[in-house]
Amino acid sequence: MTPRVRLRGLSALLVSLALLAPLAPARPAEARRHRAQQQQQQLFGQAPQRRAWDRPVGHRSEQRLSGRKLQRQFRWPGLQEVVIPASAIKGPPTWDNIPLPKDHVAYSFKERDGRAGREVVVQKIRVKDIPLSADKVLRSIEALGQRFAEQPRASRPSVTRVSEDGARYPVYKIDVPAQGAQPGAGGRRTSGGGTRGQRPLNVLISSWVHGDEPVGPATALKLVDLALRQKGFRRDFNLSVLIKVDPYGKRRTPDGVDPNRAFADGKWIPATAALGQASDKKKYDLFVDLHADVEPGFFMISEADRGGVSRRALSAMKTQALLDGTKANPKVGEYDFKVLGGAETKGLSHCFDRLMAVRGVPYSYTMEAPRTLSPDQQVRGMLKLLRSTMYNVARHGQLD
Ligand SMILES: [Zn+2]
Repeated sequence: MTPRVRLRGLSALLVSLALLAPLAPARPAEARRHRAQQQQQQLFGQAPQRRAWDRPVGHRSEQRLSGRKLQRQFRWPGLQEVVIPASAIKGPPTWDNIPLPKDHVAYSFKERDGRAGREVVVQKIRVKDIPLSADKVLRSIEALGQRFAEQPRASRPSVTRVSEDGARYPVYKIDVPAQGAQPGAGGRRTSGGGTRGQRPLNVLISSWVHGDEPVGPATALKLVDLALRQKGFRRDFNLSVLIKVDPYGKRRTPDGVDPNRAFADGKWIPATAALGQASDKKKYDLFVDLHADVEPGFFMISEADRGGVSRRALSAMKTQALLDGTKANPKVGEYDFKVLGGAETKGLSHCFDRLMAVRGVPYSYTMEAPRTLSPDQQVRGMLKLLRSTMYNVARHGQLD
């Protein structure tokens, strides 16, 4: 073989390699995914395109992070502590009367005795476009009323103030009725791609039961916005949202009552009574009470995981974003974890999700966002988990 021929052979090899190159995945991770996909296709045939909320259970990678690692990873960017003399605040500190720069909100505050007298320690954070104070939530609710006026009269959404009780904690109900559903059509395709009964899912979301968890109403309002904007949403869901507007920003009422332990006879306080009455009007398929917790991950609380729906709902979330109480310590606070991000709470009575379960709502949850995340991140994560829950109950729920 002459050198010339050898050279030609080599260049042919290079050309063919260059031609093959786009077919072979460049990075090892991609190559692995590619191989796994091919293997799956051989075993199960072409996989259908799935939505994030409809992944099969157990599909998620099992990488888990310890609580401390999560806390480091998700530490709030931009959370600052400031100390303000109590004299600079008119009356007791509330969400709305703490003097802070524009675009900042107080996320938590506590009073203490300092050197120069009584002072208030405030954790403040800058937020972009989510309402986190009583005042801003009220303005957002008002703005919704104006948007509703543009909707078709027949299925027009509405805002109702359901509690007139001394205005201490006004309770609002926002109804976005289904639109365009075809009753009696014998099986309706949900936007998840499956078929369920003939009617839209009756969903009730409640928020701000605990005053120091303002991501609840922010998430609920985003969901209403989505219902108005997203095509197909109102074909699948009859949505109602409850917002207990909280000007105090505290877990307990000024009388020291934990509102989420006051949803039963002998325990009612005016705010929970108003919420209890407003949620008694209809037979709901799904109820979710939105909360936030000091635990470093999203989680859902329910009495039992009927038909694996909670697991399905949770599978839309990244494993690292979920609270892991299954391994070393299945008990997280009062909750006994059975699955990643999910809990069974037989012992917890007098809370809102329990009341709704007792009333016969087949899927009744308390949903918790991690307060270790920024408010924006909490709202985004909770909205994702909420939508996943709605679509999974619509598609896989055992309903009448
Ligand atoms: Zn709470």
